[in-house]
Amino acid sequence: MEADSTTYESNPKSQNNEIYLPFSTSPGNLNLLKEFISNEGGRNLESQLVGRLQSFGLLPTNITCPTNGSDCKVICKSARVIDRVQWVCEGCSKRLPIRTGSFFFKLQCSILQTLQLILAWCEDTDTMAAAQYFDVKPRVAISIYDKLDSLAINELKKSKLGGENAVVLSEIYPDCLNRLSPDTTDQPHVHRILMIADTKHIPTHYRLHVIQDDLKKPQSNYDQSLSKEIEQVLSTETEAQSMLVMGNNVPIDGTVPLQQLTQHCDTDMQHFLTSRIWSQALTLCSASRDFCAGTPTHVCANTVQKYLDTSLYRLRYGDGFYDHILRIISNEFTQNGLTS
Ligand SMILES: [Zn+2]
Repeated sequence: MEADSTTYESNPKSQNNEIYLPFSTSPGNLNLLKEFISNEGGRNLESQLVGRLQSFGLLPTNITCPTNGSDCKVICKSARVIDRVQWVCEGCSKRLPIRTGSFFFKLQCSILQTLQLILAWCEDTDTMAAAQYFDVKPRVAISIYDKLDSLAINELKKSKLGGENAVVLSEIYPDCLNRLSPDTTDQPHVHRILMIADTKHIPTHYRLHVIQDDLKKPQSNYDQSLSKEIEQVLSTETEAQSMLVMGNNVPIDGTVPLQQLTQHCDTDMQHFLTSRIWSQALTLCSASRDFCAGTPTHVCANTVQKYLDTSLYRLRYGDGFYDHILRIISNEFTQNGLTS
């Protein structure tokens, strides 16, 4: 049913279903937020939102009373709390937050603010900017962003690159830059990053690994400990049957030099395999320099790694990522029939 102006007589503010956010949003992502918060009239907006989140799976639709008495029966009732509804047991009168058994449990902001912050995270918006705009305490926004980062990294690690008959390419950033796309900025390259690309996916699936070996000693050449680290990463991040191809003339056991692969390809394919396939990975590696100052440390290496992992996961979905991550949140956090 198409909403018309008469639907919203009781709430003139909602006549305009447009939302203006200070960051760019993909249309599908924004539409989902609009669906969650649209005013159908009748109950207050908070209760409507709770109902929709229950249908979506982000909030449980039933819980059992912790008292567990013979008369206990928990129902959803309106109440003078921030969410405007809560669980109340008709038997023993126990009350529980409507957020029990969900991602929202114990978060110190409204459910709506949480949904807005999740959208901001999906759109890769700066944490502090989002916290300020949605009027959420910085530490609350940071904790939500951290939870989402962990979820994304966890999901990314669930799949490996390559597989049977699949070619997986590797290059080392920034060593490969002169060949791929000369760097014209003055910003230093603090970390070396092992870039791995799976050629069977469009858009390309990558892994980007911050080289840890450089933190122990000045990065100079390729020695045994670096080779060992690369071998280790390739073995954990790729399927065993993959054909591993290495650029940079890095001698790694079990890999084929890039030249050996490209000599059998036409010019277009050569250009793709040696250059175009890396464009998104190079953009991320280049952007990750903002997290570092001067000499590489374990702290900035970890920050860069987290940024690269979450960005890669985000890239894979584009528009529709908001729906995707909310479904992952539902699967991970929503517990029907439980009370703690
Ligand atoms: Zn009870």
